[in-house]
Amino acid sequence: MSALSELYKEIVVCQQCDLHKHRTKTVPGEGAENAEIMFIGEAPGWHEDQQGRPFVGPAGQYLDNLLATINLKRQQVYITNIVKSRPPGNRDPLPAEISACRKWLDCQIEIIRPKMIVTLGRYSLTMFFPGKSISRVHGTAQKRDNVIYYAMYHPAAALHQQSLRQVIGEDMLKIPSLLAQVEVVTEAEEEPKQLSMFD
Ligand code: URA
Repeated sequence: MSALSELYKEIVVCQQCDLHKHRTKTVPGEGAENAEIMFIGEAPGWHEDQQGRPFVGPAGQYLDNLLATINLKRQQVYITNIVKSRPPGNRDPLPAEISACRKWLDCQIEIIRPKMIVTLGRYSLTMFFPGKSISRVHGTAQKRDNVIYYAMYHPAAALHQQSLRQVIGEDMLKIPSLLAQVEVVTEAEEEPKQLSMFD
């Protein structure tokens, strides 16, 4: 059994925060164990909770379309979320829930060792770029410890706000050249910080 499958067995029964009381299915993540790019969203929504799979609702279909613009299928990348269980009513995840789930994300990163981590939306951004505002840093990248961290708007935001569609589309199109030219990405001056929520 693969390291990811072993990890999923632990994640699906996790009860380290109260979100387990409300979920239908845990949503660990999915994709290639050797993926070069890892997309990290916020939290499962209704569709994801029903199916146990990340980004399978309208935002997921849009993400699939965005991936297609750079000739990628979701099976070629890895897709997961900051928290692995749906917050009731799709509310924002709480800091304690994000902290409780952090170890699973760390294990996924350790197993997959992606070349590039793409943060989708402000919660995912805050985990890797504490204190940064998405409107300022979307479409920009930092290299730390040989991993490129790249910030994008959440696909759901672009679904609700038409004006973001062009921006998110353009940001997606930058991914292949960033991967190909890792040397042009500036090394971050600071070490990655631990989780610190909210600007
Ligand atoms: N939004 C997210 O952040 N993640 C999902 O899996 C679905 C919608």
